[in-house]
Amino acid sequence: MSTRPQSSAAFERARKVIPGGVNSPARAFGGVGGTPLFIARADGPYLFDIDHKRYLDFIGSWGPMILGHCHPAVVDAVMAAVRNGSSYGAPCELETELAERVVEAVPSVEMVRFVSSGTEATMSAIRLARGYTGRDLIIKFAGCYHGHVDSLLVSAGSSALTHGVPNSPGVPKGCTDDTLVLKYNDCAGLAEVFRAKGDKIAGVIIEPVVGNMGLVPPTSEFRKELRRLTQQYGALLIYDEVMTGFRLAYGGAQELLGDSPDITAFGKIIGGGYPVGAYGGRAEVMKKIMPAGPVFQAGTLSGNPVAMAAGIATLKELKANPPYRQLDALGARLEAGLRTAATDAGVPHQINRIGNMWTLFFTATPVTDFDTAKTSDTKRFARFFWEMMDRGFYLPCSQFEAAFLCTQMTEAHIDQTIVAAREALKVFA
Ligand SMILES: *Cc1c(COP(=O)(O)O)cnc(C)c1O
Repeated sequence: MSTRPQSSAAFERARKVIPGGVNSPARAFGGVGGTPLFIARADGPYLFDIDHKRYLDFIGSWGPMILGHCHPAVVDAVMAAVRNGSSYGAPCELETELAERVVEAVPSVEMVRFVSSGTEATMSAIRLARGYTGRDLIIKFAGCYHGHVDSLLVSAGSSALTHGVPNSPGVPKGCTDDTLVLKYNDCAGLAEVFRAKGDKIAGVIIEPVVGNMGLVPPTSEFRKELRRLTQQYGALLIYDEVMTGFRLAYGGAQELLGDSPDITAFGKIIGGGYPVGAYGGRAEVMKKIMPAGPVFQAGTLSGNPVAMAAGIATLKELKANPPYRQLDALGARLEAGLRTAATDAGVPHQINRIGNMWTLFFTATPVTDFDTAKTSDTKRFARFFWEMMDRGFYLPCSQFEAAFLCTQMTEAHIDQTIVAAREALKVFA
């Protein structure tokens, strides 16, 4: 492992005043060991650390940066917005414009409410589902991550999984008593719970394509069963598209899969790199939110003009020049190259990919849910991660996270990545 003296010093300094030295556990390299890189700046497809090394960036800030870093249209929009003031505490037209763009992109969404993070979006979506139905029970799936909402912090993926804290201290049992955790892609389990408790279930929240236990796609039977049962029992189907929204297609995973949930949570890309989340759905459901209706939800910086401007510029660019086919082609190229490299090195592996989201799992078992994801050899992953880092390729620092491509990546970048992976995987031969 190369030494990075500046980052090591910066981490020591940070750890004295910030718990674990980071403001979000996924950044702490807990799953791979070593110290996190401190970033000096980012540009296009690259991150630059404070030791003056350059990395091809496969995390894209964990999802938002589909256009790469410092896209000129986003930078210009943000600069212009900043000069008009940072926050008003009163409505502005940028909010309506971004809302119109989301509504136009996602047919199941007729109205949308902006918040400041994905966590706030899912938390509010759950409250809305309960307020709308007058019921308490929520179903979630093991390995799905929906932010650090108390009631959803059970068998959660992402860094909650990496750090082995499926149930965080500080979450009272009462908070999760109304949360039922089921197995992803398990139709029988789902049907059984609905048979037993269907008339008490307010909603089902799910990552329609999971990114937070590594990339795991849903089966079509499972998606159909979800829609059928929620409709039959009058529960709301909540798609958490914080990661997949505007990533797998302009209209998100639901466009790609042809699905129509009742509520959708957004985040990441819709903020263009700034703090934005949103939740939306049918007008009849959304009108239950205060002040149109009785379900309370508020935010001082909600609909922040600078963040709205970044989101608008990002969505405008994605609509004018849809990158999805090109990104899928790059993803396919990478998948094929990695598969050959891993096979040649004799390393048991699975590559799960949908479009430009992917995970290389170090396991011989096909990964379809949380249990099979956990069969991965995380020590091997950690070794591979650092071998790639030393060659200038920044992958997600956990086996249980999806990697992303961005529109600034070219075939040459992909081919360089495959060459590096081929070398990196040789350490296991
Ligand atoms: C990132 C993520 C969240 C949480 O969003 P934050 O902005 O980090 O609060 C929720 N759901 C999914 C699917 C995510 O990937």
